[in-house]
This record gives sequence, structure tokens and C-alpha cells, in this order.
Amino acid sequence: MAETQRNIPITKPCFDAREVEAASRPILSGWVTQGPEVAAFEKEFAAHVGARHACAVSNCTTALHLALIAAGVGSDDEVITVSHSFIATMNCVRYQGAVPVVVDIDPDSYNVDPALIERVITPRTRAILCVHQVGMPCELAAILPIARRHSLVVIEDAACAIGSEIRWNGVWEKIGKPHGDVACFSFHPRKVISTGDGGMITTSNPEWDKRFRSLRQHAMSVPDTVRHGAKQVIFESYPELGFNYRMTDIQAAVGREQLKRLPEIVEKRRALAARYTKLLSQLRGVSPPREPEWAHSNWQSYCVRLLPGVKQVDVMQQLLDRGISTRRGIMSSHREPAYAMEKWTCGPGPGACGCSTGRCDRLPESERATDTCVLLPLYPQMTQEEQDFVVASLAEACR
Ligand SMILES: *Cc1c(COP(=O)(O)O)cnc(C)c1O
Repeated sequence: MAETQRNIPITKPCFDAREVEAASRPILSGWVTQGPEVAAFEKEFAAHVGARHACAVSNCTTALHLALIAAGVGSDDEVITVSHSFIATMNCVRYQGAVPVVVDIDPDSYNVDPALIERVITPRTRAILCVHQVGMPCELAAILPIARRHSLVVIEDAACAIGSEIRWNGVWEKIGKPHGDVACFSFHPRKVISTGDGGMITTSNPEWDKRFRSLRQHAMSVPDTVRHGAKQVIFESYPELGFNYRMTDIQAAVGREQLKRLPEIVEKRRALAARYTKLLSQLRGVSPPREPEWAHSNWQSYCVRLLPGVKQVDVMQQLLDRGISTRRGIMSSHREPAYAMEKWTCGPGPGACGCSTGRCDRLPESERATDTCVLLPLYPQMTQEEQDFVVASLAEACR
């Protein structure tokens, strides 16, 4: 039988008629932005992750921006984070005129190496912005005590981590409770559930939650929902600089359906990831990812490391020739032209991270992971036969 041309994408959102029906609800009702669907989505999301408060926003980048504002991050303050992340992580620090202080990653987890954090803390440090990269929880149990010792806010970039879990005092808890001060999620189609675009901020701090709700809507003193229902004329005021970071009710209605599917989506992703790991452990040339015993990843991406002698671009091209989409390892944002400037640092002055300049071009583990890792296709609808084809093609490409 002739080999038909495959089309195995890197991911596929899980939508069907239920999302279509949900999206039509607000459209037919006439209330299409930041109304009852958004309020219901926030409530259901908070319940799902076990958070006291959840505030919906336009995407995760705006969520991170508001989190930094609430944390009091301002001009020339420093925020400790990683370069080894989607560029939005570093970008949102610069939106506040603050300086991203980037530390290297642990080569096994692709997450921040907590041992590198304390030595880059200065009197200007305000926050630690840690990332649960590709859905794998970062080592919060090591990060939080450092933050507490130095009175730093912990912001979790949980863009990819909806449905991931961490063992906390012996109990499995959802990422987003949050364990730090605030956690930020994304509903971009590349993530595990999607509303097209969209974001969510969770926190236990009622004052911060109030602030998020104000800032996302131009810092308006009286929300539309209140004015709409008022029996008396109300004039709103604008006590500070706000933003339009609203989520629409159309997005929220879709998000509520997606949230119902989440347990099943995560279960399927975990089963497929376990199967990848089993199949790939037989294979020379690649090293599968590892999950620490205290973490349950949602496997937003499945990241394999190519061993020396196997060339990333060649492997990716050979897979693409067979109709299989992959992505290179997570980016190292500091290498992008947008960061070819002075406003980031690897630490306070010479030597803090082991380099001589205070602004090294060598975050060795970050760069090595970007250059030697490949993200393989993974989506809940993936068949075992498709997965076998990916593994066989990868074996071929690594030969
Ligand atoms: C996707 C992503 C973001 C940005 O999310 P948007 O919703 O697209 O703004 C931020 N951080 C990380 C780690 C991401 O993967």
C-alpha cells in the first residue's frame, strides 16, 4: 500500500459543537464582553484550581503585566526570571520599565535552577517570576523560602500549566492555587485549553484581585455591569492609569466548555506522554523528559533532548518531510534582537553568575536546551498509530 502523505501537527485544540453552541449564547443575549459568562468562567476556574480569586483578562501577557503592577514593580526595579521561556515572560518585565535579571535553568527540568536565584538578589529586586515551562511545575518548594527570606513577591507564569499539579505538604494540588502570590494562565490555542486568546490571574489576595479587576477595565471606578443595573445615575471616575485587558463573554463561554473537558484532556495527554517516554527509552540519540516525583505535568509540550551528534534542524526537517510538525526547544529570549540592548542582566556586577561582564551571553544550559531540544507532536486526539509513526520517523532521523 502506498504511503499517504501524513499531517501530524504539533498540537490541535479540542473544539466541537459544544463550543459553537456556547459561543452563540452571549451573541444571542446581546451581552458580549466582561459580563455574566466572564463572571461564571472566573468562578468555575477558581473552583477548579482551588484559588480564592480568579480574574479573567485578554491573554497571559496582560495577566503577567497586571501581576507585576500589583507586586509594585516599577522603573529600574529588578525581577528575577529565566530567559529560557516564551519571550512574553521577559517582555512583561520591560513593560514596567524594570530589568529582567535572568538565571539559568536546570538541564533536566528546563525550569529555573533555584540554586542560582539567591546570589542575584539586590536591594532593587522586587519579584521572582518563575515559569512552569511547557506545563512542568517548577520547584516552588525551593523558590518560596528564598522569596520569603528576602520579602520578594512570587509570580508564577503558569501560561502552559492549567491542569498540572504539584505535591504540597503531602497533598496533590493544582497549579494556580496559587502557591506563590499570583499565577497567570493562557488560553492561546497552543496551550492545553483555549478561548482563542485569553488569560486568567489567580491570587489569595483580595486587594490584588480588586486591583486586577479595575486595571483590566481602564481603572474605571464603576464597572459597566454595575452601571447597567443601577436605578440611579452614576458617573464613573478614573483614579489611575488603566488598560483595556478585558476578556469577551464569547471567549468566556468557550472557556467554560473547555474547562469541563480539561480533566479528560489532561488524562489523555499524560497517557500519550507516558507512552512516548516508554517508546523513546529504547531509542538511541534522544533523551526523553523526566517528571520529578512531586510533579504531575499536563504535558503542554513533550520536549526531547537530542544527544550529541544528532543535529536539531536535520531531525526537524526529516520529520517535516514525512508530514510531522515539530518545534525547536524552548527559546532563549536574551538571544533575540529585541534583547540586543543593556536592559537585562545575568546578575549584579561581574561574576555573580560566573561570567565576567554582569551581562553574559552565556546562559549555558538555557542555550544548550534551545539548540538541542525538539518538541514532538502531542494532542489528545492523537492515535497510537500516529504516535508510533512519529517515534519510528524520529528513530530514522537520528540514525
Ligand atoms: C504562551 C506563553 C505566554 C504568553 O501567553 P499569551 O496568552 O499568548 O499572552 C507567556 N509565558 C509563557 C511561558 C508562555 O508559554
